[in-house]
Amino acid sequence: MRDLTPEALLSAVNAWVAIESPTQDADAVNRVAAHAEGLLRDIGAGIERIPGENGIGDILIGRVPGTANGPGILLLGHMDTVHPAGTLAGPLPMRVEGDRAYGPGIYDMKGGNSIAFSALAHLHATGRRPHLPVTVMMIPDEEIGSPFSRPTIEAEARKHAVVLVVEPSGDFGRITIARHGIARYHLKTTGIPAHAGAYHANGRSAIREMARQVLAIEAMTDYERNVTLNVGVIEGGTHENMVPLSCTAIVYCLVPLPEHEAEVRAKLLALKSHDPEVKLEVTPGLYRPSFVKSPAIQRLYDHTAALAREIGFEVKGERVAGGGSDGNFTGALGVPTLDGLGVLGDGPHTHQEYLLVSCLVPRTKLLVRLFETLDASFGVKA
Ligand SMILES: [Zn+2]
Repeated sequence: MRDLTPEALLSAVNAWVAIESPTQDADAVNRVAAHAEGLLRDIGAGIERIPGENGIGDILIGRVPGTANGPGILLLGHMDTVHPAGTLAGPLPMRVEGDRAYGPGIYDMKGGNSIAFSALAHLHATGRRPHLPVTVMMIPDEEIGSPFSRPTIEAEARKHAVVLVVEPSGDFGRITIARHGIARYHLKTTGIPAHAGAYHANGRSAIREMARQVLAIEAMTDYERNVTLNVGVIEGGTHENMVPLSCTAIVYCLVPLPEHEAEVRAKLLALKSHDPEVKLEVTPGLYRPSFVKSPAIQRLYDHTAALAREIGFEVKGERVAGGGSDGNFTGALGVPTLDGLGVLGDGPHTHQEYLLVSCLVPRTKLLVRLFETLDASFGVKA
């Protein structure tokens, strides 16, 4: 991509968005991987594909040489979205309205992936190269907490000087310098089934027990300390004429610091069922540890803000993000990680998801300049 124009950049973004890729559909995610692989091959990157397991798509890795050798930049993005197949033809068609371009995953985070690829393609097309080698790593399962990809992400991060994450920018232009921790818990209640007409009194409802637990769990939310608990998924019962045998739920907890996670864990594991005849099980699920701003991350941020000024815009400040990303893993390892370098917009995980077309050129140029200017000195851990 020789010329960085809004039209060219948006059409590149749309090529990603046109391929729907819910995490749970490995074939769909692999179609995005095939698209991304083609783009990486076009710029002469070395390709590795790690086959997915257990219904998860592949991890795609592209290695782009730099002018210098040594540990390089790990660029992280995820290919999966939370939107089921059919969203594009249904509630969230691709369209442009004013400065807004809509589409499933356009903001979180196909827009970010695409501008990073366009930045590398621009360097290639203009006969330039990144200073440090760049490893592009496209993740298939971020939206469910990267259970498959985490070990590979951590292994790659340890071999790199710096991690850049092209997750969406928050608050219309901020850059993410820290992220809270995210913990998931799985709940299951098991009751006693009965015919709901003839033998109602003999049954013990798994759903009723879960409903009481949900209220207790959500009441643990403490906005003062930014500790929130959300029961985001619940499933139970098989038929309306049965007292339900079982019910399951998933709790998603925002835990800014490790001590918050310990506190939430203790409270959830201490939950008891109200009805002694209904069994309650609480199982800890995936945990993304928090990452906090280090002096090395501050240097990366300051450098990025200065590059933006040279290009002619201001990044809108630092952001501590609530939601997790794969940057949590790399930041928690102590590898200098700058996140939120993707596109501006709003409505992630909703049917109003959009990016701002006007951010595409400046944000792509910012990535071009980061690739050109980051050197080994930014990789010093602190
Ligand atoms: Zn994301």
